[in-house]
Formats: sequence, C-alpha cells, structure tokens
Amino acid sequence: MRDEFYAGIDRLVREHIDQRGLGQVASLGALRQASRQLSASRSVLIVTGFPVRARQVGETDGPIGALSLAYALERLGKPVVILTDRYSCALIASGMGLLGLESGLHCLPLHFSRQEAIRLLDRFNPSHLVSVERPGRAKDGRIYSMRGEDLSDLTPGIDDLFEVARERNRMTIAIGDGGNELGMGRIADLIEQKVPHGRIIANRTRADLLIVAGVSNWGAHGLVSTLSLEAHRCLLYPPDQERALLEELVAHGAVDGVTQCNESSVDGYGVEENQRIFESFHRIVKTSLDREGSIH
Ligand code: MG
Ligand code: MG
Repeated sequence: MRDEFYAGIDRLVREHIDQRGLGQVASLGALRQASRQLSASRSVLIVTGFPVRARQVGETDGPIGALSLAYALERLGKPVVILTDRYSCALIASGMGLLGLESGLHCLPLHFSRQEAIRLLDRFNPSHLVSVERPGRAKDGRIYSMRGEDLSDLTPGIDDLFEVARERNRMTIAIGDGGNELGMGRIADLIEQKVPHGRIIANRTRADLLIVAGVSNWGAHGLVSTLSLEAHRCLLYPPDQERALLEELVAHGAVDGVTQCNESSVDGYGVEENQRIFESFHRIVKTSLDREGSIH
C-alpha cells in the first residue's frame, strides 16, 4: 500500500524531469530518508531564492517549495528559519503572510564567508538544513544561471554553510532541478554530461541527501507529502493556496526563471499545471492517509 503511495509521489516529483537531462537520477530513497530525518529534527534552516539578472528579482521556483516545507514543519512544531538573498526576501515575506507562517526570515549578505557560515550556524543552531533551488558554486567557485550567466556579483555562494554544517554532523538535504543548485555535487559528473552548460554550471557541494525534481517546488511538495505519511496527517497547505501563493509572489515582482517574465508560471509551466501537480500530491496523500486510518 505504501509502495503505491511512494510510486505516485515519485512520479509527481519527477514530472518533466527528462527535459532537464536528469531523468536517470533516482530520488525516492532520498525523499523517504529526508522525511524520516525531518520528522526527528529539532530545528530546520531552509535556504532558497534564485535571482534573475535581467529582472533583478528572484524567480518563482524555490520560494514556493521553501514555504510549503516551512508550513509543514511549523505544523509539526519545529522551529524554522528561512534564509535567502535580497532579491527574494520580499517575495518570501509576502508568501509567509499569505500562509500565516511564523518562521524566521533572514536575508543573506552578498559576501558570504566561512566565518559567516559559522556565525549563522552558531546563531540558529539547526539540526537540519534544506536547500530548495538555491544557487551553488561551480568548480571555478562562481555562481551560474542555467544559461551559464555569471551571477556571482548578485548573490552569495553559501556552499560553506553546507560544508560547515556537515563538519558539525548536521543533516543537509538539497532539492534542485538543473544541476547548478547547492547540494548537487553528488551527481556533478552526470550534470557535466547531460545538462546544457553542465561543464560550467555544475555545483560541486555534496548534500547528505539529494532530491532531484522536474521543478524544485514539486520536489519540496513531494517531501511534504512523504512527511505527511510519517506524521499520519496531511501537512500540505490547502489546495487553493498553490495558485494564491504563486499569484502573490508574482504580484510582488517574482519572475519565471525560464521565461524571465513576471507571470504566474514556474520554470515555464503555467499556473494550471502547477495547480494540477499540487492537487495530485493532495489526492495521493489523502487516499493513503484514509486507507491507513481504516486499518488502525
Ligand atoms: Mg533550477
Ligand atoms: Mg527550477
């Protein structure tokens, strides 16, 4: 019965993944481990936000997933802080307002050193860190968009945060979809071979657990779905909030990272497709919880 649940969630997380060149990466094991880990977490730091140079603002992929995860973790009573850069701070604040979240929100400085990583980990002391569509450093130490544009002057590479966290035995979980995101180091060779501009943009930092999705927001929704099964309750925000959240972020200036337009879409997928996927997560979670409820 649970196999059917996990197969359904895995299918949704990986919708359209072949277009990324990363279809052969399996993430279901990481998804299940990540949900067990987060169930047992003490406090969680979520990092997100990907700036688009042409528009000088963050994209719609990432913040929605981060907010989805924060919503779920708050319902489990876990303290959460979301870290992002100046291009996505107002977007996330608006989404937090819409969902009524009480998590912390911290804006990253442009120049991020190992010392800053140590300072943040000392200050927030998270047991777990999760990145959702957050830029990571390539082998030359710089930050790149999926098009190979250098974004290093816009946003900090916070790979040291994951490095120091791992040295301190804190669990790091990464969600990405294109290979240039923080935490993709485990599959860097594959990214170099399969992803356009892969040799330039591939991130080199390893996360303990890596979830590769067709769209990063969907990877986060998948994680909240598996977390729901662990918790025996639905931790996804209500279905109508997916559309509302996307429209709220867009009203605050967010752009689609692929089209670079200020429109209600994510990575080129319109609001209807995002809504369809999110409702499917809901349906699978509800069906599974109803069945398990009937056993107990
Ligand atoms: Mg991406
Ligand atoms: Mg994306």
